[in-house]
Amino acid sequence: MKDLVRKLHKERRLEACEYRSLLLCEDRETIESLHEAARETAVERFGKNIYIRGLIEITNICRNDCLYCGIRKSNGNISRYMLSDEEILECCRYGYGLGFRTFVLQGGELPESADSKTVTLCRAIHGEFPDCAITLSIGERFPDSYRRFREAGATRYLLRHETHNPEHYSRLHPEGMTIGNRLHCLDILKEYGYQTGTGIMVGSPFQSADNIVEDIIYIEKFRPEMIGLGPFIPHKDTVFADYWKTTTSILPEKSHKEEGLDLTLKLISVFRLMLPDSLIPATTALATLVPDGHEKGILAGANVIMPNLSPPRVRGNYSLYDNKASSGAEAAEGLGNLKVQLERIGYNIVTDRGDFRTT
Ligand code: SAM
Repeated sequence: MKDLVRKLHKERRLEACEYRSLLLCEDRETIESLHEAARETAVERFGKNIYIRGLIEITNICRNDCLYCGIRKSNGNISRYMLSDEEILECCRYGYGLGFRTFVLQGGELPESADSKTVTLCRAIHGEFPDCAITLSIGERFPDSYRRFREAGATRYLLRHETHNPEHYSRLHPEGMTIGNRLHCLDILKEYGYQTGTGIMVGSPFQSADNIVEDIIYIEKFRPEMIGLGPFIPHKDTVFADYWKTTTSILPEKSHKEEGLDLTLKLISVFRLMLPDSLIPATTALATLVPDGHEKGILAGANVIMPNLSPPRVRGNYSLYDNKASSGAEAAEGLGNLKVQLERIGYNIVTDRGDFRTT
């Protein structure tokens, strides 16, 4: 098994069956050697530096009804909000003072009519903070909107494909949403010169090891600049509320939670070795799953953390999954705690924009 790690490290790719074996591998030494190789690769490229991005959850209003997501439109149990441009700018000002040089605007998918407002917002942020990067994560839009956001100053876009397999995709999404359209959006984003991020929820309902292998192979071909990998966590107001209680996991003898952790860390390492220059966050979902999720993600090869810069009063309503972390080291105002956490494992926060660069 360790030969597979060596091969991936050297050749930056494996055969499908080899990815599968690595995902299912339960040998502690092999898994540690995978994380170690990925960690060393990240340190060679970035030093022991972790980029921070200020995450602003601009709205929890969503036209989609993704079956796994707590802000899906049919969830009547959350109170919906939309931050005003001024509130968002205020978050940026506060974040800028703390040292953030990237603002990630994330939200539910709004109707097309909202796109002009997003253009105005990007212009305002870019005008006031010309030295900062604007990342958007607002779902599937028409190509012309992506072009207008780009012209208004957005340079990065996050859109997880969630799962490359059409049948699996259809078990997670309502009729009308297709993997074809999502992949088309990702192609357009790349074509328009965005640093583009994609990724998956790890351990999502009905996901098989073969599905994940398909995702790895898609990412290998697409070569995104950013890769988001977070464990699936059930949300009480979705059809998958009891998924962890009523189903078995992919890895024998592991609970869903243990499996989500194990597979997420393995995937972080696989992608670090495959695409060494990529920007890979240790996600909030990982830090929600286990208290030392950030540290574990970094020690597996992640190099980005996205603390929450949203106004504290709305954070509880951006509830994608149960118990989503948004305080302590997960919050922008808790940057000091995060710094201490990272220093304990020998890493530092860096406040530059941290654009994608090839070495
Ligand atoms: N609307 C935008 C989009 O679809 O890309 C951005 C917001 S969406 C809520 C952000 C990400 O949250 C999704 O890509 C999905 O992977 C993640 N997510 C949603 N529900 C989740 C859950 N139950 N567990 C873990 N991650 C979840």
